Amino acid sequence: MRTCPHCKLISPQDVIRCDCGYDFLSGEMKGSYIESKVFQGGMTTSKIIAVILAAGGTFWGVFCLPILIGAWTHSVTLDLSLLAGYLITVGYFILCRLKLSLPARRAIWIFSALIQGGWLFFYLYGSIVRGTPITEWIIVVWWAFALVASLIALILERCEPDTKQDKVS
Ligand SMILES: [Zn+2]
Repeated sequence: MRTCPHCKLISPQDVIRCDCGYDFLSGEMKGSYIESKVFQGGMTTSKIIAVILAAGGTFWGVFCLPILIGAWTHSVTLDLSLLAGYLITVGYFILCRLKLSLPARRAIWIFSALIQGGWLFFYLYGSIVRGTPITEWIIVVWWAFALVASLIALILERCEPDTKQDKVS
């Protein structure tokens, strides 16, 4: 056992850095082990995807706001899909910021895949049914990317150890 001279926390012998950031090897204060651990372990592909989708969701959220205000209650389907968009964007931010349980993270990714995939499907389906050419390629590409990214994140969440914070002691 090792007692940290800085914060008096007791750590196992094999721990080289205290949670407070005190480095046992060099005897200096360094970056907190927890923070670096979160950065190394927590910055997984799934989390990076959550960051990208949160940024994209925010962009579309701001972009869609005039449509939301203008079209509100004109179409229940549009209202619901826009609301779902804001909801899942909040979900991405939660994934970025908070440590959630594996089932909760998976649920958000499934919800995300359903929303993004749903938009992609209905837009493409609508274009085919009406015989109108697809003009908004940017949003089609974004939905396709978001759908694939959500599915990748969902699969990768499984591999991520769920008890990461328990190992830091
Ligand atoms: Zn310490």
